[in-house]
Amino acid sequence: MALVVQKFGGTSVGDADRIRAVADHIARTRRSGCDVVVVVSAMGRTTDDLIRLADEVSSVQPPREYDMLVSSGERVSTALLCMALAELGVAASSFTGSQAGIVTDTDHMKAKIVDIRAGRITEALEAGKVPVVAGFQGVSTERDVTTLGRGASDLTAVALAAVLGAEVCEIYTDVTGVFSSDPRIVPDAHKLLRVSFEEMLEIAAAGGRVLQLRSGEFARNHHVPLHVRSSFTWEPGTWIVEEDDSMEQAVVTAVVHDVSQAKITVARVPDKPGIAARLFRALADRSVNVDDIVQNASVDGTTDISFTVPRTDLATAVEGVSGHLADLGATGVTSDVAIAKVSVIGAGMKSHPGVTATMFETLAEEGINIDLISTSTIRISCIVREEDVERAVRALHRAFDLA
Ligand code: ASP
Ligand code: MG
Repeated sequence: MALVVQKFGGTSVGDADRIRAVADHIARTRRSGCDVVVVVSAMGRTTDDLIRLADEVSSVQPPREYDMLVSSGERVSTALLCMALAELGVAASSFTGSQAGIVTDTDHMKAKIVDIRAGRITEALEAGKVPVVAGFQGVSTERDVTTLGRGASDLTAVALAAVLGAEVCEIYTDVTGVFSSDPRIVPDAHKLLRVSFEEMLEIAAAGGRVLQLRSGEFARNHHVPLHVRSSFTWEPGTWIVEEDDSMEQAVVTAVVHDVSQAKITVARVPDKPGIAARLFRALADRSVNVDDIVQNASVDGTTDISFTVPRTDLATAVEGVSGHLADLGATGVTSDVAIAKVSVIGAGMKSHPGVTATMFETLAEEGINIDLISTSTIRISCIVREEDVERAVRALHRAFDLA
């Protein structure tokens, strides 16, 4: 029997009615002749609420206890969903990440999966049951509860789909798929029917919020086809699959923006070997995720290095750099949060020159100044002022005929 992994995000299981609607859909999938493994997120904003509660209780939050706390939201969803399934006569069993055999390293709050021992899941399937697994969590090699990072229920689903050899991993959410741009900003953005993993990863990395980046990487590496779709309309969504020749290669597939980053500039560092290495080692040691990096041309043997980091990592990053200023020979460090990134992405860019020129011309016509530029083979990104970014997205969507 074909096996489908179905993952339901926080809004999909946000209240009792939603949980019943999800149970109904699972029952329907079962009746169509598929085996189903379900992965759920915490209801609605539960995870945020738990984090807020922790902040109210204490400024000291040992990572082990943080994980114990925030992993509880998913556990609630699994039990409630199994009850809703029971009422429909569908045999189901809930599993925590640990019970599902998701083994991770000991890096709390952003643990990595090191092994999946899905014995209990396959046993449940063989017994004709629907296993309902708590997303976003696992058990460490030291036997403590760990979490895999915000948004990582997707990762749980993809990882299980990979080890169980599922035909598809369906990611149910509150939007109907992946769009050519954020429909809240660009009303005539259209739903993409198929995108390649390559494009999807660039979209996720550039700030497209539909799929968590690590999950996309895992799916690509393990060849798990993904189907991102709505649990409100249940209509077919966007398929994320391996690129093949039959795919029509639009030059530009999507225009994506990201307002979650901040820029750091380290002023007047000596332009000599080893300085950048020391700077970014200091950041890596603090687990800061550095995104775009630019080093200016050097004047009088010194140069400025600018880079972007998630706003949530800004304080850690600035502190890390500040502690090394003398060692780096730099004169100071400044930061700017009022920035945003706009990116155009498309696999067809590889064979179509001129996209960069069109992008820059479009921004110039809008009078939007470009601060930093970075590219990959299928993406061009510009850092602009945050207040300009929505205008930039709309203009680029128009310029590349994505409507
Ligand atoms: N509940 C977790 C979070 O809010 C995991 C997830 O939703 O994927 O980050
Ligand atoms: Mg989520």
